[in-house]
Amino acid sequence: MAWFIYRRPGGRIALGLQYGHVGSSLAESYGGRTKADMLEILDFEKTLALADALAEASDRLSAGEKVSGPAADRYIAAADEFAARYAGAFATKGQMKALRNNPRLQIFEDPEALLTCNLDPYKALCDPGLAKGTRPSMRTPNWNRCNPACANISRTDTHIQRAREQLAQLDTDCADPHLAHPIRRRLELCRGSREKIIQTHEAAAGRTASKDSA
Ligand code: SF4
Repeated sequence: MAWFIYRRPGGRIALGLQYGHVGSSLAESYGGRTKADMLEILDFEKTLALADALAEASDRLSAGEKVSGPAADRYIAAADEFAARYAGAFATKGQMKALRNNPRLQIFEDPEALLTCNLDPYKALCDPGLAKGTRPSMRTPNWNRCNPACANISRTDTHIQRAREQLAQLDTDCADPHLAHPIRRRLELCRGSREKIIQTHEAAAGRTASKDSA
């Protein structure tokens, strides 16, 4: 269940709430231990999610997928580093901690997103504190506030395929002659943004995996 919750948008917070609530409703005497267990679960799930995203990145690049977006180079470098240091090996607790805390390997996927977040807290436009000049503190993306102008964005052919599928669905929805005008307007805006994503990716589609990741 933790695996599933962590991988949803806002999952880290939801997981904390879930385990915190379960822990406090179990027995007060377990309060201290529950807190520690919860943090361990959060860290463990974060590491697994990171490893999944990095392994997937490595697979995509090995399959010849192209990468675009301002963080494309960081995405490729992260996949290369992960493949060279961790892929196919059993990770000890210390190695998992090193992976989790490695700023070069902070890439995040969401199954419905049209991008990979290569989280650099100093560039994260979803961080409300960034504009105020406060010290960046984000450790996971805030998908609900994701900004298409963010420098942490990269995209692969997988995301573009997802965008094409959404485009086809939007076309089907827009074909309904009884659609209310505000809904049609909203769908058309969504359609425009998908088209732009696809065109931008195809225009920048020169980048593929470096030799090391093949
Ligand atoms: S704005 Fe989007 S891409 Fe940028 S850090 Fe936030 S979630 Fe990641």
